[in-house]
Amino acid sequence: MTARILLLGGTGDALRIARALGPEHVYSLAGLGRVPADLACAVRVGGFGGAEGLARYLAEERIALVLDATHPYAAQISANAARASAAAQVPYWALRRAPWQPQRGDDWRMVDGWAGVIEAIAPFSRVLFTLGREPLAHLDEVPMHQHWTVRCLDAHAGHARAGVIDARGPFTLEGERMLCEAGRFDVIVSKNSGGDATEAKLAIARELGLPVVMMRRPALPPAQREFTTVQDVIDVLGNVVQHI
Ligand code: NAP
Repeated sequence: MTARILLLGGTGDALRIARALGPEHVYSLAGLGRVPADLACAVRVGGFGGAEGLARYLAEERIALVLDATHPYAAQISANAARASAAAQVPYWALRRAPWQPQRGDDWRMVDGWAGVIEAIAPFSRVLFTLGREPLAHLDEVPMHQHWTVRCLDAHAGHARAGVIDARGPFTLEGERMLCEAGRFDVIVSKNSGGDATEAKLAIARELGLPVVMMRRPALPPAQREFTTVQDVIDVLGNVVQHI
């Protein structure tokens, strides 16, 4: 019997770790995106019912390690996982992808939350949102002087002043350049997700002189062990569990 890992995912990085896990381990998804059907490990989908529900799950399923590889902006599940792991007395480890750093020529406007985004984009007219589905809930609030383009995983109807592009990264420099030139955007809105898959938009913003409204990362709970790369996670797991 090997130590059973609960991997909390929903990101490309988490999926790469899940592909390295054997059948005794569990990969958990919120259920908003695609559910992989080709993994050796078990896959479970849906919330646990808060930190208490997760703590119960850890005990019932005899989980020996919680590995949090959720998105850096998925603050609720990370907070729940830290609390539940402490309650169930199992280690809480996390993959914390390094944030992108502004480079010479970048014009980043750092904001907190949706209200901060709306205030920061007010002077602009053609806005590209690349921060997930949140703008979809506000499509009836597009100001008269603006046109929004929302890129996210969901297909969704737009209207005269809002278009929705459903697309999944990784995104290339060429693709991002074409998108920005065709859309004639004057600002891009982003989360500071880090990683390579969605970074090309920042290089194109720099190239085209576009400002980027960047949502600050939320605070995340400390983990007993923190990793910055998938490879580090896999290397360490290989040393502490038998079948990964
Ligand atoms: P969140 O606000 O932190 O979590 C909301 C609730 O969703 C959690 O309380 C939990 O429900 C459930 N949940 C989240 N991740 C789960 C997981 N891996 N397994 C089981 N339940 C999970 O999360 P979010 O920002 O809505 O993101 C949802 C998922 O999408 C996350 O898994 C994240 O990795 C992925 N994702 C998020 C973003 C982003 O920008 N936020 C971007 C890319 C991918 P219960 O309380 O009922 O347990």
